[in-house]
Amino acid sequence: MGLFDKKYCDICGEKIGLLGNRKLSDGNMCKDCARLLSPWFSERKQSTVEEIKGQLAYREANRDIVRTFHASRSYGEGTKLLIDDAQGLFLIARTNSLVDENPDVVALRDIISVSGGCDEHRMQHHDPNEQPGQPPRYEYSYDFKIVINVNHPYFDDMRFNLNRSSIKTGEVRPGDPIPMTGMNGAGPRPGAGIVHAAPSAGPRPGAPVTAAGPRPGAPGRPAMAGPRPGTPTPGGRPNTVAGPRPGVAAGPRPGAPAPGRPQPAPAPTAPMPPHVDFRGMEEYEVYSQMMAEVVNALTPGVGWQ
Ligand SMILES: [Zn+2]
Repeated sequence: MGLFDKKYCDICGEKIGLLGNRKLSDGNMCKDCARLLSPWFSERKQSTVEEIKGQLAYREANRDIVRTFHASRSYGEGTKLLIDDAQGLFLIARTNSLVDENPDVVALRDIISVSGGCDEHRMQHHDPNEQPGQPPRYEYSYDFKIVINVNHPYFDDMRFNLNRSSIKTGEVRPGDPIPMTGMNGAGPRPGAGIVHAAPSAGPRPGAPVTAAGPRPGAPGRPAMAGPRPGTPTPGGRPNTVAGPRPGVAAGPRPGAPAPGRPQPAPAPTAPMPPHVDFRGMEEYEVYSQMMAEVVNALTPGVGWQ
């Protein structure tokens, strides 16, 4: 069997072009057929031709359900969660042409659990007035993600961001020392202006979001907790750093302070103007709220019956 043997798609029978092969456990599939699979499906290589044919039949039947889907609620920008309350169905769509996109329609009763989380990212901030030896400062941005665990024959979870692009709050603050061991123990900084909105047992920023499910005894608890960004802090510095924060592992950490290097004591200066973009803070607030609403809307026994 030579390197240049022509392969044929075991699904549609078409010749597979160079680099166009999508391997199955017992055959081959072309790119065009692969595009028809569920976007949440991740086990293609372990699937047989028969299993893939079964999924493609399900996907075409799904398109008929999409035609009958009438959204009564919608959440998110870009990627949207749509709920059809009358039929007890939901879907997650990336475009506005639902029938062409054919997003998997899932029954609300097939939701096992839902969780929301906020990922923090940072980029080094370059200040022209920076003093040499000053610890690096970072600009922070945030993504609000939702993870829905479902009972479904072709996938286990659906995850997406409510925001279209990362939300920049304009917050600029020094980085925190990198702990040499472990990645645990993060969580909201005491005294910090930003508390990551997360439902019960929510994920740490930067950590993979795991679905925690509804917390027994606390149905319908809103995901917001603690002070929210945009809440004015006395002194006009919403994000005053309150000591090192252990264990945050969000994004790349270029230029972290070298351990052991003596840090010059900060010179007394005039109060810093707040480095806060109020529109960004507002956006952060809106998405925190939306994340809480989505978690409630999809929590069995809370947002639907
Ligand atoms: Zn094909």
